[in-house]
Amino acid sequence: MQTYEKLLLENKAWAAEKVADDPDYFKRLSALQTPEFLWIGCSDSRVPADKITGTQPGEIFVHRNVANLVINTDVNLLAVLDYAVTHLKVKHVIVCGHYGCGGIKAAATKTDYKPVLNMWLRNIKDVIRHHRDELDAIPDETRRSDRLVELNVQEQVMNLAKTTIIQKAWKAEQRPHLHGWVYGLADGIIKPVFEMEAGTHIDPLYEYDL
Ligand SMILES: [Zn+2]
Repeated sequence: MQTYEKLLLENKAWAAEKVADDPDYFKRLSALQTPEFLWIGCSDSRVPADKITGTQPGEIFVHRNVANLVINTDVNLLAVLDYAVTHLKVKHVIVCGHYGCGGIKAAATKTDYKPVLNMWLRNIKDVIRHHRDELDAIPDETRRSDRLVELNVQEQVMNLAKTTIIQKAWKAEQRPHLHGWVYGLADGIIKPVFEMEAGTHIDPLYEYDL
């Protein structure tokens, strides 16, 4: 059996188990989607949003990319954010990074990863530049990288707050609450590192006349 065939087999077993527990499970789920959370996480295979939060299908709307970045020209991210905030009306947006993130480590080096990855990682280099003094003061390489993971999450939450999508929802409906979390690969624990309540004032430049 090929490795991918095992996935299809496991899927059949999972679906059968769900129906055995609750015969209407898929009927109910397919009719309605009302998640309370949007998760923006890293694509890393070791950080599955639903598994580590114990959420079930239907409870969490998910977007993942390398190093959980929120970039204001990323149409994919913006479409997910707009749909989740404006239409699904999620109450919380969570940006979750993780310690030991390969994307974060790569951005801190001078290695040339060639055009596309360089373009993506450039956004993390900007985070390093903004927090240069704090990061340079940490002698231990692992601790410095861990701190950069936390600062990156903080910057991405601030990037969310600067979007018209979030500004509009904050003004009209006092939601969503923004959270910056970091997951520990070593112990499986999520540490909240930063948050912004709906309506938090940021630089007035980003507070549009809506
Ligand atoms: Zn990662």
